[in-house]
Amino acid sequence: MNKTFSIAIDGPAGAGKSSVAKALAAQLGAMYLDTGAMYRAFGLAMLRAGVDIHDHDAVAAHADSVVIDVDYVDGGQRICLAGKDVTDAIRTPQVSEAASAISAVAEVRRRMVALQQQIARGHNVIMDGRDIGTAVLPDATLKVYLTASALERARRRCLELEQKGTPQPLEQVLAEIEARDYRDTHREASPLVVAPGAVTVDTSDMDMEQSVAALMALAADAGIHR
Ligand code: C5P
Repeated sequence: MNKTFSIAIDGPAGAGKSSVAKALAAQLGAMYLDTGAMYRAFGLAMLRAGVDIHDHDAVAAHADSVVIDVDYVDGGQRICLAGKDVTDAIRTPQVSEAASAISAVAEVRRRMVALQQQIARGHNVIMDGRDIGTAVLPDATLKVYLTASALERARRRCLELEQKGTPQPLEQVLAEIEARDYRDTHREASPLVVAPGAVTVDTSDMDMEQSVAALMALAADAGIHR
């Protein structure tokens, strides 16, 4: 297949990026890459190796040696660390914290961006993350900044945690989201910003179906079709 388009979706934690991006990829017949999963896998590698995740130099020293692979099984993305599937292991609060901390390290970002660009080569692709429109796919056909209020994002996350059987108080989830927002937007290396040319979509008052429809309309406007 000839590559014809790429879509960059950036935004804060819990804005619904991955669910929307997955639905969009299915409707447009494109490859979906969840770049957060790659930072999570790197964070998990640091936790397992006993590296202090807040020690930039110690983390940077591992930037090129951690082996991360992305596979697609039955249409779903699987992420492997040193050849072992860690897709489920990266979804814990500890790994969220580790991913957020190690993603501030410029050497780690350089490696992840290179891997992501390599994976995208030759495919119609939809990627979500924090720096897709600014660093990974600066020439994307469509760039979207997907956001929602911190309170709404915390509510959605609480619902997910409840469904998983691991409920947490709203105040705690909100505090974690606000702390991650602060770190993502204030770090020196590729802070989360609205990329030049990106369209901002606030989903605070939209459900998933409406969010997907809004992005499908933007894709059509950008000349992107299945
Ligand atoms: O999107 P997700 O919450 O899974 O990402 C985990 C962490 O990885 C985020 O808190 C963010 O700091 C970082 N990240 C990033 N750049 C990306 C994707 C994720 O810095 N492109």
